[in-house]
Amino acid sequence: MELIFATGNSNKIAEAQAIIKNHKILSLKDINCFEDIPETHETIYENALEKAEYIWKKYGKSCFSDDTGLEVEALGGKPGVYSARYAGQDKNPEKNMDKLLEELEGKTNRKAQFHTEVVLILEGKVYSFQGFVHGVITNEKRGSHGFGYDPIFLPEGFNKTLAELSSEEKNKISHRGMALEKMGRFLWEY
Ligand code: IMP
Repeated sequence: MELIFATGNSNKIAEAQAIIKNHKILSLKDINCFEDIPETHETIYENALEKAEYIWKKYGKSCFSDDTGLEVEALGGKPGVYSARYAGQDKNPEKNMDKLLEELEGKTNRKAQFHTEVVLILEGKVYSFQGFVHGVITNEKRGSHGFGYDPIFLPEGFNKTLAELSSEEKNKISHRGMALEKMGRFLWEY
């Protein structure tokens, strides 16, 4: 079966294809969709659902989408659904991390989690899969790999930030990987 992954990010396509080996994963480019799909909701799940529904309604093809947020306990789950644009619409990761470090200054509870929702629309029916990585926010940025908040996120059981781990090491524990693995198992049994 062909499944459209509602993303323009080629790294995500490669990650999903490596996990879901028995189906062909197509990108938005592959179906000539060059639009910026709206993300207008206040929860990670609703944003993921919105993207998948957009593709299903417009193209009538089975598809899936993902949405991720970093949820910080002491900030009541912020930045959450606003992770990409926490410090402004320019979606600047350095500014986002600076803002978060500032907000956590002096706080002893630095617990946080990455939370991914993957929503699959298979022949019109909606299924969802979750993935989490638990950890803490460091006091300063460390490491140069990865993206987003990786330099300030120390995953549980590690003494390196996500930006100090190699991409292979990070993929093994990735929140998105975990949600995609769950979808892969579901598709295998479908
Ligand atoms: P998206 O839904 O995958 O686009 O993720 C939304 C935002 O969450 C990104 O712009 C990053 O700021 C943050 N984010 C998602 N996944 C990661 C990750 O693996 N490491 C660090 N930040 C991430």
